Amino acid sequence: MSSTVPAYPALNLLIGEEAIGASGRDTIDVLDPATGEVIAALPKATTADLDAALEAAARGFKQWRATSADQREAVLRKGAALIRERAKDIGAAITREQGKPLKEAVGETIYCAMLLEFYAGECKRLYGKTLVRPDGQRVEVRHEPVGPVAGFSAWNFPALNVIRKVGGPLAAGCSVIVKPSEETPAGGLGIVQALRDAGVPADVCQAVFGVPDDISRHLLASPVIRKLTFTGSTAVGKHLAKLAAENLQRATLELGGHGPVLVFNDADIDKALDTMAGNKFRNAGQVCVSPTRFLVEEDVFERFRDGFVERAKAVKVGNGFDGDTVMGPMASQRGPDGIQTKLADALDKGAKLGAGGNRIGNQGYFHEPTVLSEVPLDATIMNEEPFGPVAMINPMKGEEAMIEEANRLPYGLAAYAWTQDAKRRMRLTSEIEAGMIAINGGTVSAVDAPFGGVKWSGYGLEDGAEGVTACMVSKTIHEAA
Ligand code: NAD
Repeated sequence: MSSTVPAYPALNLLIGEEAIGASGRDTIDVLDPATGEVIAALPKATTADLDAALEAAARGFKQWRATSADQREAVLRKGAALIRERAKDIGAAITREQGKPLKEAVGETIYCAMLLEFYAGECKRLYGKTLVRPDGQRVEVRHEPVGPVAGFSAWNFPALNVIRKVGGPLAAGCSVIVKPSEETPAGGLGIVQALRDAGVPADVCQAVFGVPDDISRHLLASPVIRKLTFTGSTAVGKHLAKLAAENLQRATLELGGHGPVLVFNDADIDKALDTMAGNKFRNAGQVCVSPTRFLVEEDVFERFRDGFVERAKAVKVGNGFDGDTVMGPMASQRGPDGIQTKLADALDKGAKLGAGGNRIGNQGYFHEPTVLSEVPLDATIMNEEPFGPVAMINPMKGEEAMIEEANRLPYGLAAYAWTQDAKRRMRLTSEIEAGMIAINGGTVSAVDAPFGGVKWSGYGLEDGAEGVTACMVSKTIHEAA
């Protein structure tokens, strides 16, 4: 079944009151990952544009921090309503630029509205406290917005990554300059435009594009910016953390993971297979919390591996606009190229190929859902995030070895465990080093719960009340009796 491909929106820099198009400017090509064709020209911000954005952000911060919590809440709720109203169009733009199936792209956009609704409610829950001493002395603890925020986000969730960059700061009373990914600009622009249309002042929420390293260096070098927030690879996260250290800017870093999945012999294996295979191939595996290293007790290993292979082979791969597509193309040529290099290395070192293993066709960036088993620990793919549609399934002996393997890597974002044993559940949740753990399920994210990692998966939190307090600083006022 195939559907028509809707028009891709015009792309602008959103700086102060201005929407600056591509005409007469240096541009970056945006590609359709299903075909490899150029679909739009994205304007690049000049140094003067970035300076204008910084000046606007400084003005915007003064205005927004003085706006009442009630008003901020009302505007953010209106923004969420507009995002819901526009979800079909924003979703279509995401599918066009990033490749994921339209249903997933629209779902991602609706989730942005849900997160913004939660953040809107938080505006009124930013309580301080007062300590009153017996002699009448008072100590007041106030929470204030940290200041203008610079956000940089990745291409795997063009809209969700952007709302995570702007929603917390806006609820806290900060202004924000966001740079969505140049590879997938329209999803993020759809979010920023909806916020501006809802009444977030233009100086308070801006979007810029360009050469990523030039933009982040320029913005983070400015004393106007008080906080960095980034979603992307650990390597770039470390680089940005060093830049932020120069000005002691606070930072939230949501980086890579290498999700371990511990499957015990007492688990509901069919449910584990259905849930985890669905999760693995969602967004072609390009998800920071994707389940990746499957550590399966040896007496259920063959059943689990065979069940996973069967499900991988059944995944319908195609253009995200085709109604029956379950998995779209990878987002860029780097996707299938990187997977092919890692697969060759793993197979060379003795891994077994259960399903997939190849690119699909010679147009766009499609790759087969792939299952490897008995993968040696020195294979690159067991150490570096595949960020693609590959599951590695290894037989394991006992809980202790499984926990040790889960914690072997420097990453600690999401982990998954399948067991019916309540005591084991307690041990796993205390011993596994991860920011989020799913037990007997696949969900590790909710609008009202913090999202973030430990170790090389980053620091700072998004979502939940923590996503707002991460954008605030405390001030303590001691008042004599
Ligand atoms: P990357 O870190 O190079 O790029 C991710 C995003 O960061 C991109 O949108 C890019 O424009 C931006 N970026 C890159 N350098 C920057 C800089 N100096 N300043 C500001 N922004 C910058 O990652 P990639 O090459 O796109 O993917 C490589 C790996 O990164 C993936 O395989 C995966 O492991 C990881 N990754 C993680 C996430 C996540 O959700 N945590 C998202 C994307 C990529």
